[in-house]
Amino acid sequence: MSESATPAAGREWQLVARPSGWPTPADFALVEAPVRQPGPGEILVRNAFLSVDPYMRGRMNDVKSYVPPYPLGKAMDGGAVGYVVASQAEGFEVGDAVLHGLGWREYATLGAAHAVKVDPALAPLSYYLGALGMPGLTAYAGLLSVGAFQEGDTVFVSGAAGAVGSLVGQIAKLKGAARVVGSAGSAEKVTRLVEEYGFDAAFNYKDGPVREQLAKAAPEGIDLYFDNVGGDHLEAAIGALNLRGRAVLCGAIAQYNDTSAPAGPRNLALAIGKRLRLEGMLVNDHTELQPAFVAEVGGWLRDGKLAYDETVAEGVENTVDAFIGLLRGDNTGKMVVRLGG
Ligand code: NDP
Repeated sequence: MSESATPAAGREWQLVARPSGWPTPADFALVEAPVRQPGPGEILVRNAFLSVDPYMRGRMNDVKSYVPPYPLGKAMDGGAVGYVVASQAEGFEVGDAVLHGLGWREYATLGAAHAVKVDPALAPLSYYLGALGMPGLTAYAGLLSVGAFQEGDTVFVSGAAGAVGSLVGQIAKLKGAARVVGSAGSAEKVTRLVEEYGFDAAFNYKDGPVREQLAKAAPEGIDLYFDNVGGDHLEAAIGALNLRGRAVLCGAIAQYNDTSAPAGPRNLALAIGKRLRLEGMLVNDHTELQPAFVAEVGGWLRDGKLAYDETVAEGVENTVDAFIGLLRGDNTGKMVVRLGG
């Protein structure tokens, strides 16, 4: 029930062609659209940060999945945080900071029931898209619940310098892992894993076969593999897993832009003799852990026990570049887009 000056139009990204293989800027269009004033029960939000996430690549394909594909020629969506600039909803005032699902645009009009108020005094606003948001809960629930992490486990995580992976490795250390090993795609990232995030060992998967590098980094084998990558990483982990080891199948980013069926893992039958458990996960199944996750991860961040990085692209016009950059590995930690104004 409040209002500040709002513009008549704002920019939004639309998918205009379905990418085949790697997305290119030509698959997207930045379009100016009228800003709709909120109706009863709605709020108008000026987005401050947009999230770009790997799962969005899947939504660009016209296939049935756990989230519907992006329609062509319509505004795309995704996680965003911003400030309420007009409200017709009980309990939401101009200036409130909110997390919601209408990203890829400068202004969003939505039902207040689809927004969650967040506190920028507790953590930087963008953290609600990362460490304190969806990727954070993915790491927390994936490791502790799906992966049934036990103190003393040796843990291997791929995509270890990214939003989810960097948290998985650090949470495993904080919870008493015997050894944490990570893989990432550059020498700088590998150094960061060991020196900033406290991993016991790390390697660059581009330097040589994952199987060989993992065997050196975890000579006693691994008990838990957190898979963000799939393919040769998963195959190597199946080979390295100890008896009754567990693999959390969280993502398979190595194949998101593939146009043909992926190669491996070719050694799946090892799972029989080793009594392995490989379990897929979706973060949305784990909302019951949200309070414990916020309390624990929020506490570690506050106490300086958890390092958290972001790669920040500037301006709505750079959202597509940020997204393609994420798939290429340009980011360390969470990739977000900061909007001016
Ligand atoms: P990241 O921040 O980890 O960014 C993606 C990273 O993937 C890049 O930085 C890049 O780093 C790496 N990468 C890209 N291509 C390859 C490749 N061919 N082989 C190995 N690594 C590659 O993203 P998120 O933390 O947001 O997501 C991580 C994974 O978790 C993704 O697979 C995502 O789909 C999944 N996910 C799943 C969820 C679920 O509910 N199941 C929820 C959230 C995320 P590098 O330089 O190291 O190559």
